[in-house]
Amino acid sequence: MANPLTPDVLVDPVVLTRTLVDIESVSRDEKAIADCVEEVLRQAPHLHTERFGNTVMARTDLGRERRVVLAGHLDTVPLNDNFPSTVVDDLIYGCGTSDMKSGVALALHLAATLPEPGYDITYLFYEAEEIEARFNGLHLVAQSRPEWLRADFALLLEPTYGVVEAGCQGTLQARIRTHGRRAHPARAWRGVNAIHGAGEVLRRLADYRPRTVTIDGCTYREGLNAVRIAGGVAGNVIPDECEVEVNLRFAPDRSERQALDHVREVFADFDVEVTDSAPGALPGLSAEPAREFLTAVGAEPAAKLGWTDVARFAALGIPALNYGPGDPALAHAPDEHVEIGKIRDGAATLHRWLTSYE
Ligand SMILES: [Zn+2]
Repeated sequence: MANPLTPDVLVDPVVLTRTLVDIESVSRDEKAIADCVEEVLRQAPHLHTERFGNTVMARTDLGRERRVVLAGHLDTVPLNDNFPSTVVDDLIYGCGTSDMKSGVALALHLAATLPEPGYDITYLFYEAEEIEARFNGLHLVAQSRPEWLRADFALLLEPTYGVVEAGCQGTLQARIRTHGRRAHPARAWRGVNAIHGAGEVLRRLADYRPRTVTIDGCTYREGLNAVRIAGGVAGNVIPDECEVEVNLRFAPDRSERQALDHVREVFADFDVEVTDSAPGALPGLSAEPAREFLTAVGAEPAAKLGWTDVARFAALGIPALNYGPGDPALAHAPDEHVEIGKIRDGAATLHRWLTSYE
């Protein structure tokens, strides 16, 4: 098959979006699209290109003071009667139009057409984002080719409808246990009721005033909530144990460790067991390339409340943001589509950002 990513296609991010959508690439079936992308990048004399599995990395080495990553996943969720693409007025319909081949198109367009950006750029086109984390191309690269991820700033071109979405909140799950002593309810004074003891746990939750934290202009609302309660032995036994399961959503200015310390402090004198946690990611807007990027976008960022691959970069100490032309509400939907105007705006913004600085 001749590579459909011809020079005419690469210069126009809208045509390029459609062409990428028309190369089928459901997760675990990204070889064909990765082959096409790799071939194009290898032909660009200003790029150094390597491949790992079905993840393709290409970078400039211009000796710029700073390096930024532009990253996008090549895979899509399974087709849903939405392949190949169709165009209706100024909308491109099809699997992956929003999530996230329109974003990939922006990065690939820049890779092919911008030989002298103001920052050195590492382009990452990676596999298997839509399935279990162990297959995720960024995860695999972090393990086997960590040097590919080295940068001062990373931009993920996931769908955000042209808004900058920053950071993400962390989450922590814990069990708060109260202990007592069993007895017959007829002689309750001989026992200690652990369910009554849980009253104090619930009171602290009810009295809890969660923080609202603004970091770099993004507002994160924390929350500490009971999500389950269990206790009791039988109808004729004073219970000796009760367990309240709580969930803390914490702003990314706290580490996992600090979040745990906080929960222990709220429930001082109680038996606290953490069962699960995941760190948040700072919005990373104070890194210089990020500030320049926000200037180019010219709009205020919004806090990301869910978890995304930006946290992978944050875990490596690299500030990262989401910004893409797709509408996140349309991701994975059968009528998935992208607005042509958003693709053009996104291309213009990224171009402005990457050429304004030197
Ligand atoms: Zn995606």
